[in-house]
Amino acid sequence: MTDGPIYGFDTLQIHAGARPDPATGARQTPIYQTAAYVFRDAEHAAALFGLQEVGYIYSRLTNPTIAVLQERIATLEGGVGAVCCSSGHAAQIMALFPLMRPGRNVVASTRLYGGTITQFSQTIRRFGWDAKFVDFDDVDSVTSAIDKNTRAVFCESIANPGGYITDLDTISKISDAAGVPLVVDNTSATPYLCRPIEHGATLVVHSTTKYLTGNGTVTGGCVVDCGKFDWSANDKFPSLSEPEPAYHGLRFHETFGPQAYTFHGIAIGLRDLGMTMNPQAAHYTLMGIETLSLRMQRHVENAQTVATWLEKDDRVDYVTYAGLQSSPYFKRVKNICPKGAGGIFTFAVKGGYDACVKLVNALEIFSHVANLGDARSLIIHSASTTHRQLSVEQQEAAGAGPGVVRVSIGIEDANDLIADLDQGLSKAVR
Ligand SMILES: *Cc1c(COP(=O)(O)O)cnc(C)c1O
Repeated sequence: MTDGPIYGFDTLQIHAGARPDPATGARQTPIYQTAAYVFRDAEHAAALFGLQEVGYIYSRLTNPTIAVLQERIATLEGGVGAVCCSSGHAAQIMALFPLMRPGRNVVASTRLYGGTITQFSQTIRRFGWDAKFVDFDDVDSVTSAIDKNTRAVFCESIANPGGYITDLDTISKISDAAGVPLVVDNTSATPYLCRPIEHGATLVVHSTTKYLTGNGTVTGGCVVDCGKFDWSANDKFPSLSEPEPAYHGLRFHETFGPQAYTFHGIAIGLRDLGMTMNPQAAHYTLMGIETLSLRMQRHVENAQTVATWLEKDDRVDYVTYAGLQSSPYFKRVKNICPKGAGGIFTFAVKGGYDACVKLVNALEIFSHVANLGDARSLIIHSASTTHRQLSVEQQEAAGAGPGVVRVSIGIEDANDLIADLDQGLSKAVR
């Protein structure tokens, strides 16, 4: 699409970044299944390698199919640029990489996807990076956790596994005051339900594996930059503000302005870490994004119906869905995700760990898988799977204690989902 009128979300989810293929006129974005691109001549090649000209060199760095997806996600999030990666976890490393050095830390919410807690509390330490986990509902503890070595604040908009909603406006005021970027994982909300940049986020990360693709076919990730952070305000972000030795002394911020972070993500991040998305995956995700708003409307509608039914059932202790009046997060929905509280939540089954395991085994429509954001309804007992590597204390803090199951409500008939849960609960709780 060309610069012109500001289009609505439903138009942009189909058109942003795409144009008829210049070679063939193909209306759908082709899968450019190629590793490399022929240079016009030696000068062209040199200009591309020197970053004096933007173009295609090699698919570890850039690929036309992936470029369409990057522009589409950046547009839907209201950012200036995006870099796609091989998975959501790759996107998280790619997001932190330009900000961190050995000895630096990220201040992260305790309520995160289980894999992220493990990645941050164990694996990133091998890079010499550190993570400090705090309760993001406790504003003072977030403020006091930020120290002179903090280079990022990290949370989820609608947080796993309970569907808790983070008060992004308050958190972004704290990170702003500290001069540190706020990184928001917007996987569970998607830009249809929540646009973190409008609430002060600097960077938005996604596991495109989930709702953006929407059909459980491919893994992928994305990092979106708002383009507004001043990387040169002080000496905290030398990768972006100081001469880059791996690029003949180029200063990314001075040279690329608002695109500095995105260019760094491609020219250094993808070039040297190689966590690249492949064009087939980008194709599946582009297909999925075309119907994102329609699917999210149904996910939200079904989640609301199922959560309301569960809450009234006496085999269930409590339900964490933020769309329920009983949720402490109910009031945040209107401001943070006005189109609905998403499609994931947890509920506690009377009978604890054993009843949860029986329920998961008894369900027929719900699939027992470690995934979310599929068109299909999914269930998992976090404590014995995704959050298994965590201590019981960490599990409880993350909202994934032994007595709860997490559901990702799909877009099937809500009545069928309720009937399935009903028969499952009758086998689990006697
Ligand atoms: C799945 C998920 C991730 C990790 O993404 P992968 O694509 O599985 O690597 C990160 N954050 C959230 C919220 C997720 O749901």
